[in-house]
Amino acid sequence: MIRSSKKGFAFITIVYWFLLLYIIAALVWWFISLQQQNEMMYRFRFDELKKDDPAYIQKVENINDLKRRKDTQYIGEGSIFLLVILIGAVFVYRATRKQFRLSRQQQNFLMAVTHELKTPIAVTQLNLETLQKRKLDEQQHQKIISQTLEETSRLNELSNNILVSSQLEAGAYELNKQRINLSDLVKQCAANFSQRFPKRNLILSVLENIFCEVDDILFTMLVNNLLENAVKYSPAEKDIQLKLFSKDKKTWLLVADEGPGIPANERKRIFQRFYRIGSENTRKAKGTGLGLYLCKKIAEDHNGRIEVGDHTPNGTVFTVIF
Ligand code: ADP
Repeated sequence: MIRSSKKGFAFITIVYWFLLLYIIAALVWWFISLQQQNEMMYRFRFDELKKDDPAYIQKVENINDLKRRKDTQYIGEGSIFLLVILIGAVFVYRATRKQFRLSRQQQNFLMAVTHELKTPIAVTQLNLETLQKRKLDEQQHQKIISQTLEETSRLNELSNNILVSSQLEAGAYELNKQRINLSDLVKQCAANFSQRFPKRNLILSVLENIFCEVDDILFTMLVNNLLENAVKYSPAEKDIQLKLFSKDKKTWLLVADEGPGIPANERKRIFQRFYRIGSENTRKAKGTGLGLYLCKKIAEDHNGRIEVGDHTPNGTVFTVIF
């Protein structure tokens, strides 16, 4: 599907360049023929003059003047046409490229989401069948139950991401902002995180009693998405940091990991809907490209912003300031 969309874009690009060159060639041809016509008219008018005419010099001046004006008119009109065509061409090219990119990302998203939906459902079904058919000891029983819970909470997170992002995109989500203790919310996210990923070391630093007007559901999603990315994109043995503090009369939330980091040229695009770095063949981590788009929307809906930077010595830091 992706290959066919690439081919489609290549075909459109060829047609586009052909049409553009044709239009420019037609414009140049039009310009040359008008200039030739102007030249002919000039000669014709000149030949018509009689040398013994008392107004001869005045008439020559008039003819020269007319030719100059026509020259300027053709050059001026031609340049404006060329400029308009080039500006239009740039717009059309950019819009088409954007459209193709978006449709490719949507195809990727559909493939990813199908996979992400099917896996937890299949695992959950298998686990439930095992529990139904086999007598397991207590330890195995607990293991299967916690694995199933993990899969269902992944499913829940995924469907929330899809639902909320489409509602936010359509402007249909009604923000429910309330003054809450944000420090408690962040600590609760950290506790859930440690329960879900007991092997990951989370370094938590939360300034107590930061009260803010937030939509707690959205804010929990924001923190969870950033933490989940830190887990997905950094090695299992590396630490993850989660900080909440106040500075310059603003509240700062910071999530840092020690993964490979994000190249500078990708930092703007990672916040676009469905955007994922790399290609389907090179990507290892599962995902839909919705997480950071949601984080950005949520930060903006709380009159804030999200930034991405380098973590030292390596890794990524996401900072939400609001
Ligand atoms: P997803 O994780 O589902 O692919 P996101 O919108 O959350 O989508 O992230 C977009 C892309 O940004 C990811 O595909 C990944 O390449 C990159 N990214 C996000 N977080 C990190 C991180 N902590 N470290 C490195 N790369 C990241």
